[in-house]
Amino acid sequence: MNAPELHHARPVKPGASAGETIPGERSHCARHLRRLAEFSRALQSAGTLAEALRRFDEHLPCLFHTTGGAIYLFESGSPPLRRVCAWGHAPLPPASSGTALRALPASNDPGRKRRGAVWLPLQVNGEVDGLLGLACAAAEADALMRSAYTAATVAQIALEIGNMKSRDALREQSIRDPLTGLYNRRYLEESLRRELLRAVRLTRRRAGLGVLMIDVDHFKRFNDEHGHEAGDLVLAAIGSRLRRVVRASDIASRFGGEEFVVVLPEVTPARALVRAEQVRSAVEALRLVHHGEPLPPVTVSVGAAMYPHHGDSVESLLRAADHALYGAKRDGRNQVRCVTAEELHDTGSRLGATAESAVRAHSGSA
Ligand code: GH3
Ligand code: MG
Ligand code: MG
Repeated sequence: MNAPELHHARPVKPGASAGETIPGERSHCARHLRRLAEFSRALQSAGTLAEALRRFDEHLPCLFHTTGGAIYLFESGSPPLRRVCAWGHAPLPPASSGTALRALPASNDPGRKRRGAVWLPLQVNGEVDGLLGLACAAAEADALMRSAYTAATVAQIALEIGNMKSRDALREQSIRDPLTGLYNRRYLEESLRRELLRAVRLTRRRAGLGVLMIDVDHFKRFNDEHGHEAGDLVLAAIGSRLRRVVRASDIASRFGGEEFVVVLPEVTPARALVRAEQVRSAVEALRLVHHGEPLPPVTVSVGAAMYPHHGDSVESLLRAADHALYGAKRDGRNQVRCVTAEELHDTGSRLGATAESAVRAHSGSA
């Protein structure tokens, strides 16, 4: 890096008034503005905050000519600070509780200069999202903190992080069902399509794909007897049970009303049935209390279908699972059913499709 040392803490020429430029400053300013613009442009093409943060490592060392730096973001869990970017001699954050750390950068006290670094708040609309630590010698700390160059760069970084966080939150809202916290139907269908393509590619490794369709039994009667609010409590509780029963790679969704669909990538038919039974028994074991009154247990019926055995498209798999669910209802509810060959014939699912034909069907090139 051939930029002058710490030029963002450029000293003011004796006798020069504030805002007056000094020789070399204009070109320095132009270079910095160009780098800042490049940084913003690089982030624009990032789809998520996580993706944007991966690009910070490349750009921040050029924006701050310090011997090192790091960005920590506040998280709701523990530890409260997560390091998301670091370069050179990356400073460690001041050891304090999360709350004290949040208050620290907002105040103008000497606490901002700690352990060979200054700590600056990444703040948008008064909300501190994180801290930027810049390694520097004690003698340079004040100039670095007062520099307009530092302030503008920090403001830009905070703005980019804030924008990305809002974008992530909006996306999360658009794919989640608010009552249960599960994915919504649109996301489920998108994911099932994607997982199916992956399963087709993995067919040679005998990886199957399971689809469970789950429906609450006699839920209309439950609502009639205990009220809609108690019904909502049941749906939310089933949502949290489902999230606990499935693996991180599974996709649990509220398909609509009192129906749920879980997609199980890379499972055998036997494993899918075990998972279906776990879901059924986990719901049956729920004990809920509404306004101080215990609610009676609720049960679900589960229909299971497998790729490639029972269907090779989103539609045929959901239809097969729905058919199996219908069988579980007909046979007395509170049970798991897999679609039978006879039933499959009725659904019009195409059995025995080759992996190649499935790929063509899903990529639209058939
Ligand atoms: P079955 O065992 O055959 O599935 O019977 P069911 O009563 O569950 O089925 P039906 O389709 O007749 O009724 C579904 C009920 O689910 C009716 C509707 O009021 C209730 N329901 C759908 N969405 C919600 C919701 O968001 N909250 C509440 N509380 N109830 C809902
Ligand atoms: Mg239903
Ligand atoms: Mg029902």
